[in-house]
Amino acid sequence: MKKIALIGSTGSIGVQTLNVVRRYPDKFKIVSLAAGKNAALLAEQVKEFKPEIATAAGCSEEYLSVIKQNVRDFTVGENAFINAITAEADVVVIALVGFTGIIAVLDAINKGKNIALANKESLVVGGDIVMKKAREKGVNIVPIDSEHSAIWQALSFDFNRPFKKIILTASGGAFRDKTEEELKTATAADALKHPNWAMGAKITVDCATMVNKAFEVIEAKWLYGAPFDKIDVIIHRESIIHSMVEYEDGSTIAQMSYPTMELPIQIALSYPERLNPAVDSLNFAKISKLTFSELDKKRFPAFKEVVAAGKKGGAYPAVANGANDALTKLFLENKIGFTDIYAGISGALNAYSGDYFGDFETLKAANDFAARFVKNKYGE
Ligand code: NDP
Repeated sequence: MKKIALIGSTGSIGVQTLNVVRRYPDKFKIVSLAAGKNAALLAEQVKEFKPEIATAAGCSEEYLSVIKQNVRDFTVGENAFINAITAEADVVVIALVGFTGIIAVLDAINKGKNIALANKESLVVGGDIVMKKAREKGVNIVPIDSEHSAIWQALSFDFNRPFKKIILTASGGAFRDKTEEELKTATAADALKHPNWAMGAKITVDCATMVNKAFEVIEAKWLYGAPFDKIDVIIHRESIIHSMVEYEDGSTIAQMSYPTMELPIQIALSYPERLNPAVDSLNFAKISKLTFSELDKKRFPAFKEVVAAGKKGGAYPAVANGANDALTKLFLENKIGFTDIYAGISGALNAYSGDYFGDFETLKAANDFAARFVKNKYGE
């Protein structure tokens, strides 16, 4: 029985993780749940999964007593999720969104806990610190992100297996067919209509800007020790192939399934064992075609900008991420336009000149610098 601490239980990945746990009650047990502000859903989750510990970033009176009745310990606060990274857990699923994820990741590593990682921003902003500390503490970090799960599977779960190239696939997001002109007036409601995946709002916008794919390039660098020139991106509209690994001999291994996050979540929790089919297997006779094309860096300039920040290293990826967090929020609130996201990221990166000391504090300062830059330029 694997004991799971689930950080970000009320979000898209959190809810799907609980679907996996529900399906395999003899394999997995929830020992703690951490939510943000959706106390109504947390209340239902504690009743069903009976964790010892629950936390929330915010909780109204209405749900306080019902949550307290069902757990041994309930704390509320912005970083209360730290209390849910408990000694009892065998693995911590980190499904928070944004910069906050790195706080949870570093705390789990310090506590010597293995991590199933959905929060890609933590590796984007602090991949060097995270991977170094994980090595020092002997902590395993395994990916939930579907592309990185695909790569990991294509490497036979061996992070050290040599390869020639990683090929990340991208659906292209909601705006893959929009012209440059149309992107200028694209709205948040449009951006949230992802053609293939149902996900949280922030990552869905990240897919539309292609920032998500740039983040995944940086994530691949850290997870697989891949230099940037060994990481390719290809548009694959059908989201059937979730990524590929090319080996020295010219052989390419692809991982395929219908798009559902429950498969990579389950694999992150059960590897190297594969559990009985949880998802529909592919019906190849009904898949008429699998298509591939180049990513259009002119229409989606944020991709190149964020990868460039990744290559520059230091605190630059934290600036790109901090700006993107703030700009995406404003875009979702209809306060800025779609193309302002790229302009804002680019502006913040150009304005930044801080030093990097290889510590969390510098990353936080870079993140805060970017948030301030966005606030000064576009308001709150
Ligand atoms: P959501 O926005 O759906 O969920 C985010 C979760 O974090 C919610 O449970 C939210 O709580 C919680 N949260 C936010 N702030 C806090 C806080 N201070 N304390 C505790 N909990 C908090 O995001 P997703 O599930 O879509 O994405 C999560 C991560 O996984 C992101 O990094 C994303 O890039 C990555 N990812 C997601 C995929 C997907 O399919 N969704 C696919 C691949 C990667 P609440 O809702 O209660 O406020």
